[in-house]
Amino acid sequence: MNLILFGAPGSGKGTQAEKLKDKYQIPHISTGDMFRKAVEDKSELARQLKDIMESGKLVPDKLVIDVVNERLKKEDCIKGFILDGFPRTLIQGQALENILGEKRIEVVLYIELSEKETVKRLSGRRGCSDCKAGYHVVFQPPKKENVCDRCSGPLFQRDDDKEDTIIQRLKVYNGETAPLVDYYQKQGILEEINGNVSVDEVFNQLCKVIDDK
Ligand code: AMP
Repeated sequence: MNLILFGAPGSGKGTQAEKLKDKYQIPHISTGDMFRKAVEDKSELARQLKDIMESGKLVPDKLVIDVVNERLKKEDCIKGFILDGFPRTLIQGQALENILGEKRIEVVLYIELSEKETVKRLSGRRGCSDCKAGYHVVFQPPKKENVCDRCSGPLFQRDDDKEDTIIQRLKVYNGETAPLVDYYQKQGILEEINGNVSVDEVFNQLCKVIDDK
């Protein structure tokens, strides 16, 4: 099944995509994760990407589309995939249709969350520098402050989860990404999911929609 997990930054797409990947055995494709990995490089392109991401802006459409096009050609996508963080503009949405050709997106799972809650979630988010396990200072604190429960690695806050960048990311989301809600609603493939509940409850809602398809 070909799925899009859609929602504002902080709505829990990444967490849910990992759970869905395990349950349905299809790859989780996160453009944000791919770009975060790419900036570890020492190239000029990596430096430019890092600046864009740290400022909360969007990576140019052409680059994102090329990256996704290459990724979706891989063999592990034959049985389906979960897109997380793509598409983020109408141009990307249209490009995705061209990439897919005969195939199509079965469902766009839209995790809805209030803006206040979004800011609360993003600003408290932490990750382990070593094993990448995710935490939240309020909702999922580690047993020992700033230390990973799993591997004892140090926790860090993503540069783009700092307050100024969060405000910029939400502005970009509302201006450039939110119009995709209407786009997919008109195609009749958008399903709304209440994101203001626990991780498990959101997951149950997602599975129900997928299993009913
Ligand atoms: P995310 O982890 O999905 O919040 O993505 C982190 C950052 O990566 C975003 O704020 C953008 O700068 C960049 N990014 C990820 N996906 C896209 C996309 N589809 N289009 C443009 N920029 C993206």
